[in-house]
Amino acid sequence: MARTVSWPGLGDEELLIAVANTAHGERDELADSASVRAWWHGLGAPAPTQDGSSAAPESVAMLRALRGLIRGLALRNNGIEPDLSGSAELDGLAVRLDLRGAPSLRADEPGDLARDISAATVAALLRATARPGWPRVKACRGDDCRWVFVDGSRNSSRRWCAMANCGNRAKMVTFRDRHRATPGRHPG
Ligand SMILES: [Zn+2]
Repeated sequence: MARTVSWPGLGDEELLIAVANTAHGERDELADSASVRAWWHGLGAPAPTQDGSSAAPESVAMLRALRGLIRGLALRNNGIEPDLSGSAELDGLAVRLDLRGAPSLRADEPGDLARDISAATVAALLRATARPGWPRVKACRGDDCRWVFVDGSRNSSRRWCAMANCGNRAKMVTFRDRHRATPGRHPG
């Protein structure tokens, strides 16, 4: 019986955002097999058993490429055309239809944690991008940030994440915009 990844019960967007936000600043939760396991466990997945749940370096690299892809697509939702050239690393991800429940995808050879998470994430990506709410999943415009968030603003106008640095940058942009608009001039 093929082992499959322990599912922490995240919705599609939640999983995508969890994968996308595994690195910020110096920290990278997808640095290696051990950090992937710790991160996945931290999401609420059951503790991995001893015999399984390891991740080969190439499948961890694949998961990192997937993180870049999600960030890129979320950046596109924020009005910036991304560089998706790094997603070629995903060519090695072999998936097959999983028909045990609602049709989905699973790794062709289950048992490698990062590969299993990658397959689940690709399936989540296909479902999430087909939904009307997808354009609200955005990556922060900060070059050194790219934090992925759901824009809950009424007119879907949020550009930056809520972190202090980006919040200040957002204020600066707003300040410049206000400064540019000369008093008395009516827009349009
Ligand atoms: Zn940010």
